[in-house]
Amino acid sequence: MFDSIASDKAHCWHPFTRQGEWCAPGHDPLMIVKAEGVWLFDADGKKYLDGNSSIWTNIHGHCRPEIAEAIAKQAAKLDHSSYLGLGHPLASELAEKLVSYFPKNTLERVFFSDNGSTAVEAALKMSLQSRMQTGKEKRTRFLAFDNAYHGDTLGAASLGGVNRFFSRFQSLGFETEFLSSMEDLISVDPSTVTAVVIEPLIQGVNEMRPWPKGMLAELREWTLEHGIHLILDEVMTGFGRTGTMFACQQENVIPDFLCLAKGLTGGTVPLAATLTTGEIYNAFLGRVENTFYYGHSYTANPIGCAAALASLKIFESDHTLELLAAKIRHLEKSLADLQAEFSVVVETRQCGLIAGIEFQKGLGEKITAMARDHGLITRNILDTVVFMPPLCVREDEIDFSFAALRSAIRFSKILS
Ligand SMILES: *Cc1c(COP(=O)(O)O)cnc(C)c1O
Repeated sequence: MFDSIASDKAHCWHPFTRQGEWCAPGHDPLMIVKAEGVWLFDADGKKYLDGNSSIWTNIHGHCRPEIAEAIAKQAAKLDHSSYLGLGHPLASELAEKLVSYFPKNTLERVFFSDNGSTAVEAALKMSLQSRMQTGKEKRTRFLAFDNAYHGDTLGAASLGGVNRFFSRFQSLGFETEFLSSMEDLISVDPSTVTAVVIEPLIQGVNEMRPWPKGMLAELREWTLEHGIHLILDEVMTGFGRTGTMFACQQENVIPDFLCLAKGLTGGTVPLAATLTTGEIYNAFLGRVENTFYYGHSYTANPIGCAAALASLKIFESDHTLELLAAKIRHLEKSLADLQAEFSVVVETRQCGLIAGIEFQKGLGEKITAMARDHGLITRNILDTVVFMPPLCVREDEIDFSFAALRSAIRFSKILS
């Protein structure tokens, strides 16, 4: 019989994974073979709650029939055709749908790509190239925030402020000045800056750390004052995660670029979109040399577009956003109760249905591993355990997750 674990250890290379430990003879990796709703199933039929929405992608639960059917139908009709010099109806429909979430004549153009990194990468290049074509050649630098995460391709990585990931490559990418807070803007020379990039409302990889309220609106004002583009990386926060369709809506901010990926297809197949304004777009017209020479083979893949449209339809049929408020409150209470019960919980942080539970030093990984034994799959970032289930999660499923966390904390014999 085919031994999938032996083949994995012999031939596969996992992202962000200490391969030495993964491949060690004593390590028995968990193989997921099936998923349904908020649940993942292993080969023995044991089920686990998907506590980080399969690395922040899943929205309506796994294997939703509406999305699965849309994918199957599209795969049988038009699987893929190049978007270079050709179009297809589903990409048109999806682009129109995406811009419809924003007021007319604001974000009105959609550039498709494959993942969060490329969505950011496209925005960076568009910002920079638009400057070259509008007589603002001096604007060549980017501003980003300490501990930010914008993806792993080289351009996006140069905006990454998580030093343990990016410092070794920092000198190779875009010229970037890092800010620790809004106060740092005072010392910035704005005349040479093309754009500032930020994860709105909450930084994900920075252990789920929310920004102060009002900060995004304040940053928007500063960029408008100085003629600087605002690039919002909503790869994690997009599609309901923070309680509204997009995080920027909570502070009435409309950026020059909006980067979307993870939840765009409901967490089924890869697809990304970079939304921008008519003003940016117009800088690429006129002369042949102004063309945006950038793209990927699978850009605007029709199966991805079908999945995205089906997912956006479910937001309406399920009343996903309307039902979120009660779940967010339930999560808030669950976090407060957990913190009150265990002194090993240092802090809990929350933004919508995104939560980080910070434990005392050295416990994050241990508790995450123990929680898995009790039926909750998630990942820790250092000592912060992430909890961000699919938006379709029910209150009793949140309770199940916190019961698993409680058992994990007790089981690791770290009693408060
Ligand atoms: C995940 C993520 C990215 C990168 O997306 P990929 O699809 O993994 O390339 C970029 N920005 C943010 C905020 C993310 O959470």
